[in-house]
Amino acid sequence: MSLSKLVQFSAMFLSMSIAFETSATTFTPEQRAAAKAQVVAAVDKQKKLAQVMNDTIFSFGELGFQEFETSAYLTKMLTEEGFEIEQGIAGIPTAWIAKWGSGKPVIALGTDLDGIPKASQKPGVAYHEPIIEGAPGHGEGHNSGQVVNIIAAIALKDYMAENDISGTIVLWPGVAEEQLATKAYYVRAGYFNDVDAVLYSHVGSSFGTFYGNPGLSGLVSVKYNFYGESAHSASSPWRGRSALDAVELMSVGLNYRREHLRLSQRIHSVIVDGGDQPNVVPPKASSWYFFREVDYPHIKALWEVGDKVAEGAALMTNTTWDSVVMGSAWPLHSNKPLAYRAFENIKAIGLPEWSEDDLTLAKALQKEIGAEVIGLPEEIMPMVAPPPLEKLTGGGSDDVGDISWVVPTIFMLYPSNIPNLPGHNWSNAVSMATPIAHKGIIAGAKAHAMTMIDLFTDPSLLEEMDDYFTNTQTKDLKYESLLREKDTPQIHLNEDIMGQYRDRMREFYYDAEKYDTYLQQLGIDYPTIRSE
Ligand SMILES: [Zn+2]
Repeated sequence: MSLSKLVQFSAMFLSMSIAFETSATTFTPEQRAAAKAQVVAAVDKQKKLAQVMNDTIFSFGELGFQEFETSAYLTKMLTEEGFEIEQGIAGIPTAWIAKWGSGKPVIALGTDLDGIPKASQKPGVAYHEPIIEGAPGHGEGHNSGQVVNIIAAIALKDYMAENDISGTIVLWPGVAEEQLATKAYYVRAGYFNDVDAVLYSHVGSSFGTFYGNPGLSGLVSVKYNFYGESAHSASSPWRGRSALDAVELMSVGLNYRREHLRLSQRIHSVIVDGGDQPNVVPPKASSWYFFREVDYPHIKALWEVGDKVAEGAALMTNTTWDSVVMGSAWPLHSNKPLAYRAFENIKAIGLPEWSEDDLTLAKALQKEIGAEVIGLPEEIMPMVAPPPLEKLTGGGSDDVGDISWVVPTIFMLYPSNIPNLPGHNWSNAVSMATPIAHKGIIAGAKAHAMTMIDLFTDPSLLEEMDDYFTNTQTKDLKYESLLREKDTPQIHLNEDIMGQYRDRMREFYYDAEKYDTYLQQLGIDYPTIRSE
């Protein structure tokens, strides 16, 4: 045998043995149903742990990139559960990846961690009452997602260990999701290269999933810095060049331009630096824009419009400019075969049973904020076909979009919040450390655990997912990062705000040793509603 033949032969032998070692488990439908019943029962046994984790993370109330308490708490717990942890992934101090098991398939569970500025709110109270005035809080409900994923993952790993099932479970956090600021970096660093499927969970006010893009936008988030020259604003204003003028003219320019942009665009901005005081011509000023569109080519085109208007503003004011990418997100695309399988599991679990107290809280809150009073959902979300791309009119974004374009991914909403709330608001925190959230988490964890059984014991599902991913989703559009080579994670975001509030918030961290629930610790009667 020649040397090259020998190499070929051993390569073949090696690949055969790898294939043998990592070959996925195949169950009959009956075996799979029995396995699902077993993991659902295991999830039910973790109700107390779920409540403690959820309430603890709620009490941390940390903002994006500053999730230090949350990540330390979760990774300590995952280490005790036998997961291997890699800390600080992709150059992000609060990001991590946790792994358990070995070989294929590799199933990754992701969900966000971070809170909302000025959203501090007492749970279980149906009107605005902050725990600490002005402090951040979980005004979206990101305190609950890791609980869904971890409870499901624990049930699965115990089952896999007992039954000798091959495969790897991966858990990861959506750090700074509110800034859409990390997931593209995870992708760039290669963390999803060997992953076969991603189950993403997100708090919702009902229970369900979808496929394709149901109406989400993607975006690029860009900070524009303008540079001029300072001068005394009264005695020698002609010596100055105002960077603030450039910020204002860029805003005026983009708002005129808005009329002539596609209806599916969304542009919004804040001024992050407008100078220091009126009698000093601002030598430096910055504004921060989100450019949203419904597909990658149009996001790029809208970003070019922004750059051109910035250039125009700089010309008019005799200033210079540069830009920093603060975050980015591709529009989410959810894998159809996997979504349908998850939907079957969601249907099998159904919605939790809401108590009279849960309904009283929901209705009182809906009345308080002037929303339609409907209480809590009674039916799961139907699976509906996504609108065609040309009909999408734009909406919110999630940077899990980037992941969904490199690995088959689904997005599951679990029912821990109250319907008809505005989002990114104190009212979205009201249910998030109450029995409503606790029950919704358990329902979500059960559905996730069942879908993981499908993924670990039905190789034909993985083939269908791959076929859809390759031949439908990415047939005409391949993933290209919106990040430029020079862009880096903006890990210092929110440092100031957390620095301002963290010490005071610490006094309100949930002490699970002392109190059964966080409601009990705060002395809140559930539910607390306005007296008539
Ligand atoms: Zn979110």
